[in-house]
Amino acid sequence: MKGSTVFAAELPWPDYHATVKDGRTPILIPVGSMEQHGHHMPLHVDVLLPTEFARRVAVEIGALVAPPVTYGYKSHQKSGGGNHLPGTTSLDGATMVAVLKDVVKEFARHGVRKLCLVNGHFENSWFITEGIDLALRELRWDGIADLKVVVLSYWDFVDREAIARLYPDGFPGWEVEHGGVLETSLMLALHPDLVQLDRAVDHPPATFPPYDVYPVRPERTPPSGTLSSPKAATVEKGHILLEVCTRGIVAALRAEFG
Ligand code: ZN
Ligand code: MN
Repeated sequence: MKGSTVFAAELPWPDYHATVKDGRTPILIPVGSMEQHGHHMPLHVDVLLPTEFARRVAVEIGALVAPPVTYGYKSHQKSGGGNHLPGTTSLDGATMVAVLKDVVKEFARHGVRKLCLVNGHFENSWFITEGIDLALRELRWDGIADLKVVVLSYWDFVDREAIARLYPDGFPGWEVEHGGVLETSLMLALHPDLVQLDRAVDHPPATFPPYDVYPVRPERTPPSGTLSSPKAATVEKGHILLEVCTRGIVAALRAEFG
């Protein structure tokens, strides 16, 4: 095969077909969102980051990376600032589930039997689960019962040791990490041209009551759109995150896919 891309959509179909038809090559599908990430980062952070984790992991384990799902489920105020913010462009839950169900079934039709959905947007989680569940059910009706699907969010592979190095002044929790140290450090390491750290707004971590109110009260989201300050983000922290998450995902997929 000419070239050595891991991106499935860069292959001519006969090469793709030869790679996936026996079911042994895993396919990784990044799942993101178009969502505001403060004044200092672009709208497709949640697409760029899982796509790069998927690429690194695919190189290690001999997998292919599918085109990412570039829209996600609605931003929640306590984890993404809220769906009312400009730029944030989301799918209804039923649409998100339908898209994922269709994509999973299509890869199964091609022969793929090892799939991993690499999530980069917290709010997608249960809709990914539902899309997979419906796809597996319909595939069983078609007599396909041997598709294995792994679902993961890359930040779940950040271990305690890494957290201690990333947040020497105390860890605010993943839920307020939207546009904060985690995503900004990764973007600084991977796409420094897309980060304007001088425009980042410094503010204490957002606090919310232990309930939600609809319609959303916009004043509960910090005006910057971020839920914690990105000011402590660094390239070095980005490399710590890249290393620990890639290592963890590779180990998980080797364990699950053999
Ligand atoms: Zn994000
Ligand atoms: Mn997000």
